[in-house]
Amino acid sequence: GIAFVNGRYGPLADAAVHVEDRGLQFADAVYEVCAVLNGRLLDWDKHCWRLRRGLAALFIEGVMGDAALGQVAARLLRANRAGDGLLYIQVTRGSARRDHPFPRDIRPTLIMTWKAFDFAARLRHQREGLAAVSLPDQRWARCDIKTTGLLANVLAKQAAKAAGGAEAVLVREDGVVTEGGSTNIWIVDAAGVLRTHPLSARILPGVMRDTLIGLARERQMLVEERAFTLDEVRSARELFMTSTTAPVVPLVTLDGVAVGDGRPGPVATRLADAMWGEIERQTGW
Ligand code: PLP
Repeated sequence: GIAFVNGRYGPLADAAVHVEDRGLQFADAVYEVCAVLNGRLLDWDKHCWRLRRGLAALFIEGVMGDAALGQVAARLLRANRAGDGLLYIQVTRGSARRDHPFPRDIRPTLIMTWKAFDFAARLRHQREGLAAVSLPDQRWARCDIKTTGLLANVLAKQAAKAAGGAEAVLVREDGVVTEGGSTNIWIVDAAGVLRTHPLSARILPGVMRDTLIGLARERQMLVEERAFTLDEVRSARELFMTSTTAPVVPLVTLDGVAVGDGRPGPVATRLADAMWGEIERQTGW
């Protein structure tokens, strides 16, 4: 594949940044993962918005504008003859001799890479559902910033995998479920209400989360952005996750116990259909 690093397009195998890049040394960086279907970017504007928000939160300046970013992305997708896959973008504060405070006159590092991804495999997961494992949310207090500092997510997802699950449902000390290891988490509660954690510093503002709230409301479905506890998940009718790589995927067991009747529920199924309709509308997939 072809990668973009600081103005140059070249073979991914040779793409490199400096060993003193602050992305490597401090995870002083933000990133985006964008879905590409039929060679077309899904929800590009929402990804740009979130990237800008993260850069502002970290006081990283001097990154090219959205239009120029879009041109780099388009050129990279063409160079890779992109069909279905993922566009990865990372911006770090740049490279400098190691010192915690921001160095002066530093220029950001911009990386873009492409990889193929089988979205059709997700349709099978959607029909069958996946297993979830609850784990303590051990992340920092600014989970709304999409930083590359993902160690707590990595450890949670690995622990979920070791326990036979596909996703970690992260739980705060007070019992509140925030989100998944790399997804936003939703329930249809015991009263039949569709709920997901409100936007706050405790969760990532997911692109798919935002899109799904819109799609549900267009269909006159009630959505409450209201936190729920692990106990509420255990007594919920349905549990599912959303993300760029798992648009709407039911989680049919939690810690080895069936959620609801242990099969993908009607609400998740209806929302998944709506989501694929939206994906088709945007990309022709
Ligand atoms: N929450 C976390 C922690 C994530 O890492 C991700 C995406 O990777 C999401 C939620 C879902 O966000 P999006 O729908 O923008 O992919």
